[in-house]
Amino acid sequence: MDTGRALAASSTPCALPGTPLADVRAGIDACVHCGFCLEACPTYTALDDENDSPRGRIVLMRSVLEGDLPPGDDAVQEHIARCLGCRACETACPSGVPYGQMLEATRATIAPYRPAPLLARLGLKSFAFPRLLAAAMWMSRLLRATGLPRVLARMPGRMGFANAMLAGSATPIAAPPYEPAGDGSRGTAALLTGCVMEGLFTDANRATERVLTVNGYAMRGAPGQRCCGALHAHSGDMDAARALARRNVDAFEQSGADHVVTNSAGCGAMMKEYGHLLAGDARYADRAARLAERVRDATQLLAEAGPKPGAPVPERITYDAPCHLVHAQRITAPPLQVLRSIPGLEVVPLADADRCCGAAGIYSLIEPATSHAVLAPKLAHIAATGATMVATGNPGCLMQIGAGLRMSGSSARAVHPIELLDLSYARMHAAGKDG
Ligand code: SF4
Ligand code: SF4
Repeated sequence: MDTGRALAASSTPCALPGTPLADVRAGIDACVHCGFCLEACPTYTALDDENDSPRGRIVLMRSVLEGDLPPGDDAVQEHIARCLGCRACETACPSGVPYGQMLEATRATIAPYRPAPLLARLGLKSFAFPRLLAAAMWMSRLLRATGLPRVLARMPGRMGFANAMLAGSATPIAAPPYEPAGDGSRGTAALLTGCVMEGLFTDANRATERVLTVNGYAMRGAPGQRCCGALHAHSGDMDAARALARRNVDAFEQSGADHVVTNSAGCGAMMKEYGHLLAGDARYADRAARLAERVRDATQLLAEAGPKPGAPVPERITYDAPCHLVHAQRITAPPLQVLRSIPGLEVVPLADADRCCGAAGIYSLIEPATSHAVLAPKLAHIAATGATMVATGNPGCLMQIGAGLRMSGSSARAVHPIELLDLSYARMHAAGKDG
């Protein structure tokens, strides 16, 4: 959409010229208030408050932009903070309202009027310092290995849930080690290792590299890569998000890889929007747009040619679609194609699989009540499947669903879909060696 033309054409007042919110005026104007998005919105269905719906939040955005409400207004801050950023409203909207970009712009505009809690800000800052982040993740893994988080998960409130999330990040399956063999015939690929993925889901990252190798991709390193910047962008810190994006453009350009691969839905969605994020940067705009075109979710690449067959994995599992895969990247079939390619794996449908689980970055720790209200129906649907595992390709969802399953006493566990394919290959490899 041509934002400049829409701004010029608009005759309504603008109280915040030059802000990110003013830049998304065309999106606000595109909303016709039809309400088609309401039932798709998890916070609206959980809380039954129009202000916690996409339409209501867009009205709040307009009120701030036109000066009817100040950016620091309690209701504005509260209802914008309570949005999960799941973008289900975008998929449902017939008018093409770019809600995700509008939400980021709104948060960037109103954040200075009520900064996030100090701990959350310090946590986000640490993502820009690889050594600090690596130390924090090492300590988290150490704590997880002690088993203490499983015990502390019984504590009430945020502390209990934070420990349940850490306990829930442990992978429920362990593929026997194997050396993947591949001919590199499908080109080269570099993995965004990510911050939480590499820190807490290291096994899933190594599994992704092995699986891609088996399927004909020659893996390339991308030294100097950083966190994708999604958590920063979603919390309104666009400067930090842009700084991280520039580092990644440099690193993945230098890798020379044909494909930039992510196994985290949130990171993939962010990287695919680098062109938009760095559009105002003369040095990086074109390079960021070119990089964004090379980004693929791992399941997208694997589904293109169909994953190579492996050994049976006789389990009954279900699949939950991460919001940033299904709504932001509009990827629906590839993860299921990957899972259904595994012999013996029974993939049972999950009701409302495309609805948010309530993770949304650090949302479950900042807005615990709403997060739990959104998670509850998800857990009930999972229980109804009788599955022993829930496959989902996003670290936040893995931790949120993993924590919910533990706290509800379920024996089911959350797992990354690629790890199941990796397990299938590992078993085939072991059988080949043994036989
Ligand atoms: S965001 Fe889209 S679906 Fe929702 S009220 Fe506006 S136009 Fe209708
Ligand atoms: S992003 Fe999700 S939670 Fe936020 S308004 Fe849209 S549907 Fe609702």
